[in-house]
Amino acid sequence: MLDHLTSLPSRKGFFDKLNKQVQSLSEKPGKIACLIINIHELKKINSSLGYDIGDTVLQEFAQRIRRILRETDTAARIGDNKFALILTSIMNSGHATLAANKILTLLDEPFRINGSKVQIKATLGVALYPEHAENAQSLLQNTEEALDQAKSTRSEYNIYCHSNVNIERRNHILEKELKDAIDGDELLMHYQPQISIQQQYVNSVEALVRWQHPKTGMISPDRFISLAENCGLIVPLTLWTLNTTLRHCKNCFESWQNFSVSINLSAVLLHEPDLVEMIRQSMQIWGINANNLTLEVTESAMMVDPDKSMQTLHELNGLGVNISIDDFGTGHSSLSYLKQLPVNEIKIDKSFVMNMNENEDDRKIVRSVIDLGHNFDLKVVAEGIESEQTLSELRGMGCDIGQGYYISRPLPMDEMQHWLNSTTWNSNKNPQK
Ligand code: C2E
Ligand code: CA
Ligand code: CA
Repeated sequence: MLDHLTSLPSRKGFFDKLNKQVQSLSEKPGKIACLIINIHELKKINSSLGYDIGDTVLQEFAQRIRRILRETDTAARIGDNKFALILTSIMNSGHATLAANKILTLLDEPFRINGSKVQIKATLGVALYPEHAENAQSLLQNTEEALDQAKSTRSEYNIYCHSNVNIERRNHILEKELKDAIDGDELLMHYQPQISIQQQYVNSVEALVRWQHPKTGMISPDRFISLAENCGLIVPLTLWTLNTTLRHCKNCFESWQNFSVSINLSAVLLHEPDLVEMIRQSMQIWGINANNLTLEVTESAMMVDPDKSMQTLHELNGLGVNISIDDFGTGHSSLSYLKQLPVNEIKIDKSFVMNMNENEDDRKIVRSVIDLGHNFDLKVVAEGIESEQTLSELRGMGCDIGQGYYISRPLPMDEMQHWLNSTTWNSNKNPQK
């Protein structure tokens, strides 16, 4: 009853174990949590990179899970792209939330297979015994239901609730926590430098938000931006990031010539009637010139409603700010559409840049995007530069701007100031005033 690929128990073995655990709890007090992990992108990996790579990803994921489990816990592979866990010694749903977050962070680091980096995402469903079920059968069913709820609300994980009233209550609690985080001191801005690749001086920084949650620790923006979008908090969140960033960067604008900051704009904001006015007012409050500000909009965000996006981008362009197309290469926009956009730069998605040394296809994509951008008179930014080799290849390809862990990870503003003052990327081509 072992899965041949991962050597973990299969569905039948898992159910037998779940049954035993549930029965043992009828004799002594305690709780267990049942988790189902649904891996995404497996089909895409199998079809684009081959089944061998897809299989290795599953095997390595199984290894990562094994490393964080206690001896009394159980992991199994219960479907092609589904793993299940039984966690013992769970005291309450707070513990289950921590466990779900821990599993999700296992996927933050890409898998390195045959020289390629493969990134996958997952959705989790969680249910507890005895709270949410009276036997093993209903525990497994309710965990599946929690997983379905997570998928339908586009959440990364969901803990089973008895009724929709409870689901709404839980979402409401999370929304309230995020709202308090925006109003309180739990959100932080980090900044990652961007350098001019050809002249080797610091050009600008990208502002990246973080949530320092009092219970669960640092939460990545990939986890809470979609929550903010879904519950109507994206406008206050953006207002906070915009004003905080401009306040933090004001000194840099004053001390460095042509210094600029890039801010990410969420997809749903392109439909927000007050967006342009909000940005205009923030620039006015902090006395910032429009050419010091770049707004990053993802290519896929624009493709949701290309006409509306075009209109919003033209209005933003009217303010004089720079516009950058983020995650370029993943959004399937057409050349004729691109030609009409009032944009200044394109940012090659990091998934291509990170692998370009090992993967010939990725290298070709990077080279083509650089040529395409230059043919349209656009600056081309490469993000996800993790090595000297990648940087020098990009230099050879004529890429304009570079960003990535090799240059610096995102840092809080005080550390960024220190970095800016001591970095070797500071050539006298961009002298301090
Ligand atoms: P993004 O705009 O594509 O941001 C780049 C992400 O790549 C950042 O992750 C950054 O830390 C990471 N990164 C940079 N260099 C490297 C590298 O060399 N290697 C690797 N592996 N990663 C690198 P982060 O900060 O977790 O942000 C994730 C996403 O969250 C961003 O992707 C952006 O879409 C969104 N986001 C971040 N801040 C904001 C914000 O203030 N507003 C909105 N709407 N979205 C934001
Ligand atoms: Ca970005
Ligand atoms: Ca990006």
